[in-house]
Amino acid sequence: MQENLRHIAILGAGESGVGAALLAKSKGYHVFVSDAGNIKPRFKKELEDNAISYEEGKHSMDQLTKGKEIIKSPGISNASELIQSFVSQGIRVIGEIEFASRYTDAKIIAITGSNGKTTTTHLVHHVLKKGGIENSIGGNVGQSFARQILEENASVYVLELSSFQLEDMFEFKADIAILLNIVPDHLDRYNYSMDLYGAAKMRIHQNQTKDDWFIYNADDKEILKQLKRFPPNSRCAAFSLENLQEMGGYLNQEQITITIKNKLTMSIHELALKGRHNVQNSLASGIAGRLLDIRKESIRESLSDFTNVEHRLEFVAKVNGIEFINDSKATNINAAWYALESMEKPTVWIAGGVDKGNDYEELLPLVKDKVKAIICLGVENQKIVESFRDHIENIYEAKSALEAVVYAYRLAKKDETVLLSPACASFDLFDNYEDRGRQFKQAVRSL
Ligand code: ADP
Repeated sequence: MQENLRHIAILGAGESGVGAALLAKSKGYHVFVSDAGNIKPRFKKELEDNAISYEEGKHSMDQLTKGKEIIKSPGISNASELIQSFVSQGIRVIGEIEFASRYTDAKIIAITGSNGKTTTTHLVHHVLKKGGIENSIGGNVGQSFARQILEENASVYVLELSSFQLEDMFEFKADIAILLNIVPDHLDRYNYSMDLYGAAKMRIHQNQTKDDWFIYNADDKEILKQLKRFPPNSRCAAFSLENLQEMGGYLNQEQITITIKNKLTMSIHELALKGRHNVQNSLASGIAGRLLDIRKESIRESLSDFTNVEHRLEFVAKVNGIEFINDSKATNINAAWYALESMEKPTVWIAGGVDKGNDYEELLPLVKDKVKAIICLGVENQKIVESFRDHIENIYEAKSALEAVVYAYRLAKKDETVLLSPACASFDLFDNYEDRGRQFKQAVRSL
């Protein structure tokens, strides 16, 4: 009976908070949801339909501190005064993933990295599905993990996890953990320290034992550094574009090899996803598939017939021989670097937006090699203009996706490419990166 009287408070009423609230309620908790902003009508309705009390526009401390635990949205920093005040009162603050994982025995494949999480999560899902392993995608993408556990209870989950989510996870354990890369991103939440950010990312292998697997990128210097600080207890499988890996996978000239159990080889030309970053994502996904005993033939097939997720190096159309590519999700330098690196034809590059402290210097060699013109699509474009004006003659500014596409169409010739890969966030001119990508595609289709 005591169990049924437990109180739990939830901070933030987005998809993860509401999912956690519904799951907690179903497990017999007295749930109280609190959001400092406005709650979306559909979430309010869900809370009301399930008789869950909530508040918006404030945090009532007396309500929030009734229980021993608080589930917080990954958007709220642990360094905030609010969270610190709970911690000092001995209240445990956890994330929705941590909470939800208590209620499932499913096999979990957890994926993190600064870039490539969503792509790899979908690719692993596809590899497993084709290999006959039914599985659900969750975490940082789509429906919250808590909601899925409540509604579908799958036997395998492929979870995309951000560093913010990982920070609020303690007992959680993945059967297979994948770490793609660690490059500067969100450093404002980590005191501008790569060590703090890296420590959050390394939690992906927390609690693993020798029965579990940790798949990581052996070419990533930051990962190698963090591995010394946080050595895994699990078995390791590494992937590399540079060196042969005895246990894992690697690229050798134009062929990938996966060395789990017996060898699987495949030409990179057969891979559905183009670009070196996607060779990494394909290797990681193929390794995961082999660890789960999926047949080689099935893995080869799924790596070659996967359809990319929208806004990630997405082919839009060919108009009069000019290819248009939407990589609106490239919101940092590293992602744009890989996009430019994968360009095979002279490229008109559409970039810009809200800069999170970018150092464009890193892109200069690729820009010099591949870019014939730059179109800045942002409110404030000075930094991009200054970074490249000594090297690129044609730099223009546009204030809408349509304007950018019209300029690009004029500048590009037959057999050239127009690439939207902004290296910046989108909220100066657009609602979000999806909105930016869709407006770009619409503009291309209107040509
Ligand atoms: P995330 O979910 O981590 O943001 P996405 O799969 O949505 O990653 O891809 C974000 C951006 O990063 C896209 O522009 C994509 O082309 C690029 N990208 C994808 N995989 C990688 C990778 N392994 N390394 C670097 N960039 C990548």
